[in-house]
Amino acid sequence: MSNGLVYVLPSLDGKILLPRQSHLGTFVGPQNQPTDIWPIKILCSENGRLYERSHDMIRREVYPMPDPSQRQVRPWMIAFRCAHIGCGNPYTIFAIEYADDEGERHLRAALSKAALGLCSGHATEVDQDTVEMWWLPY
Ligand SMILES: [Zn+2]
Repeated sequence: MSNGLVYVLPSLDGKILLPRQSHLGTFVGPQNQPTDIWPIKILCSENGRLYERSHDMIRREVYPMPDPSQRQVRPWMIAFRCAHIGCGNPYTIFAIEYADDEGERHLRAALSKAALGLCSGHATEVDQDTVEMWWLPY
């Protein structure tokens, strides 16, 4: 595994290698250019909770580059709407998981519990028909 000078974000139990270009922004070269999607909410699939990260927590450092021959952990983007009657609020959250079918299953299992507190005045009900999730390539 080789190291590269990349942009990383602290997670609950380590660091997240940010994609060079994605909905999160452009993280390449001496400048990072986050989009206005920040601060972001990140789903921890271990404990089914959301935690928040802001763009000023991004650091540029030497970090191991993903080995394409290994199972990869990548940032995921998850979009859905609340199914509570009269709500329908759209949400976009992120997660750190394996970039494969098993990772997606973990995230789907954790999503409903983690999303409970997103709406104000009622418990958020994830509308499963609206759930879209995809992982962000480096
Ligand atoms: Zn709602």
